[in-house]
Formats: sequence, C-alpha cells, structure tokens
Amino acid sequence: MKYIVVLGDGMADWKLDDLGGKTPLQYAEKPHIDALAAHAEVGLCRTVPEGFKPGSDVANLSVMGYDPHECYTGRSPLEAVSIGIDLKDTDVTLRCNLVTLSDEEKYEDRRMLDYSAGEISTAEARQLIESLKKEFDSSDFTLYAGVSYRHCLVAHGGVCGHTLTPPHDITGKPIRDFLPQGPQAELYLRMMKRSADILKDHPVNAARRAAGKNPANSAWFWGEGTKPALENFREKFGKRGGVISAVDLVKGIGILAGMKVIEVEGATGNYDTNFAGKADAALHALLQDGLDFIYIHMEAPDECGHQGDIAHKVYSIEQIDSRVVARLTEGLRKAGEDFRMLICPDHPTPIAVRTHVADPIPYLLFDSRKQVSGPSSYDEESAKQTGIFIEKGWELMKRLLDE
Ligand SMILES: [Zn+2]
Repeated sequence: MKYIVVLGDGMADWKLDDLGGKTPLQYAEKPHIDALAAHAEVGLCRTVPEGFKPGSDVANLSVMGYDPHECYTGRSPLEAVSIGIDLKDTDVTLRCNLVTLSDEEKYEDRRMLDYSAGEISTAEARQLIESLKKEFDSSDFTLYAGVSYRHCLVAHGGVCGHTLTPPHDITGKPIRDFLPQGPQAELYLRMMKRSADILKDHPVNAARRAAGKNPANSAWFWGEGTKPALENFREKFGKRGGVISAVDLVKGIGILAGMKVIEVEGATGNYDTNFAGKADAALHALLQDGLDFIYIHMEAPDECGHQGDIAHKVYSIEQIDSRVVARLTEGLRKAGEDFRMLICPDHPTPIAVRTHVADPIPYLLFDSRKQVSGPSSYDEESAKQTGIFIEKGWELMKRLLDE
C-alpha cells in the first residue's frame, strides 16, 4: 500500500468573472482528478486553525499531520533548516526577501512593487546577498543565500515578538505602514535601508534594469522564528516518508520530520516547473526505494495567485492533472500497487486578493481498493456540497493513512 499527497499550493480560489463565474479549479480541464473524485471522499478541511495567519508554513504543517498549536515556531526556521543552517536554540531566524521597491527618495515613501524582484535567479541573488553579507555579517547576524528571492537572516541570541509583514501581502502598497515594529525594529529597519543603498547601483541590478527586469533593490525581513521540534514522521505515523518540493519551507518541514527530501531537476516553484519529473521521482521513491508515503508539493498555483495570473493558475492545475496525477495513478496501477491519494491545496490563494486566505480547503481522498461514490468534479463547490467537514486539518493525515 502506498500513500500520496498531491499538494497544489494555493490552488483553491473564489469564483472569477474572467472565468465565467467559475473558480480556476472549476474552469481547468482536469479529467484525471475528476475521475478520481467520482469515486473518492471529497470534502472541506480547515488547515489554518483559528488565530493563525494563513501562511504556507502553518497550512503545510497541518496537511503533513502536525498540529500547528503544538509545533509552530515561525516560518523562517523551517526554511533555514532546509538551506542547511545548523540553528542554535538561541538563534532567531528571519526570512529575507529580495524585493523591488519604487524609487522615491525617502525609503518610507516607497511602495512594494514586487515581493520576488521579478523572480530573480538564484545566481544573481547570490551575488547580491554576497554584497550584503560583507556589511551585515557579524557576531550578531549571519545572512544566508537561499533560492531565487528567498534568503535567511539569523540573529544570534536575537529576540522574537516583532510585527513583520509578508511582502506578498502588500503588493502595490506604500511600505510606510508595514515597516518592522517591536524590540529590534529600529535595527532591522536600518539594515533594510542600508540594503537599499548597497543594492541600488549593484551591477546585477544595472543589468536587470537594462534587460527590462525588476531590480532587487531592497532586503525585506519577515517570518521570524526559532528552531522547532517536530515529532519524527515515521514514529508518529509508522510510515517511511519522503518530500518533493522546490521550496525550502516544505523541504524544511520534511527534514525536521525526518523524511527523505528528494531533489528533482527542473523543479522551480512556478508554472514552468518539471511537473512530470516530480511525479516520476515520486514513483521511483515509492516503487524502487521502498518509501510508503510521499508528499509532492507544487508551488505553481500559489505563485500565480500572488501574481494575479489567472491563465497560468488554470494551466498549473491542468499540469498537475495531466503530468502529476495521471502519471502517478498510471505508474502505481502498472506496478500493481494499491494506493491512497490525497489531493488538496494547503490554503486558497484567491486571484481577487492575490494573497492567502484562511478559508477551509477542498480535499479529495481516493482509495484504489475501496471506491466510494463521489462528485463528478473536484472543486470548492463540490467539496462544500458533500457536507463533509474536517475541523482539525492535521487529522486529514490520519484519515489518509488509516485503512
Ligand atoms: Zn501555500
């Protein structure tokens, strides 16, 4: 028996006029997923508990079977672990985005144009982070380069308790009202301002501007936290698990849970990712390497939600259908393996608001041996109509693994 989670990050949405009053999940052509839905349990599940912000960290922890009340210590430490940083118990980590701000003279007057600096390449970002490290690295701070626009600042012996705003929540807005607040806010703001001075005329940014791309002209700190302890997945659930994802946050959860983190060439975290490669790697892990459980995470629909890109959000869902779900089910059936598959997002990222919301998510739970009668489509509406509602998101994993 094999167990699979196919997670389309931010895949759920609201109805859109541009799609004739349908959601992207309703609009997308996804015959393979819908065929499973017709014989599956489909329902709603609350992955973001009351009182938590609807971040991918909290929501993915829930889907992975961990109660955020017990284990959530912030987003950045999960990513830090994935980058390979050996966190001390006294370290506080912060996510450091490379962002694009507008050009007003005064830092506070600038607006958040792009939380991803045009999805800057990792090679370019590393050069910029290198320049920032020269100034910021000290006995108090170490800056680490991650992937694309996602990096990490470790405050040695730092304190938590800051109000820090995710930059993807304030696209287009003046940053004035969203600057750091709390015990070390002044220091963080000084570093952000200084980063803008250092990055402004950096050759990498000059080249990006010349090519019509967004420059990465400021660091932006958020997502602070301390080193979390997650119960080992195998001890908790009795299954040998693996994680496939392009994003450090999800890989970090996998590492902390003692799962195998499987790298896939061409996994990008956007709609150009190697969807088929992820499915093939999952099949290999399950059928050749003897894993019982695999968590395949696709960031693409979330990224498209943040960018307000309806066409590519629909495209991403269609790719998940034809290149991931179809390939997986076919591969497992060919190998004669029974399987249980959970398909869901972590949280919705509605195009209308271009950020995450805490609405319950639609899920589909399919068992290749015990086919039940389900709806003809897997989407937000059909999940609501079945009347099945799981209040504690972390219980979904038990539902997947219980037979
Ligand atoms: Zn997410």
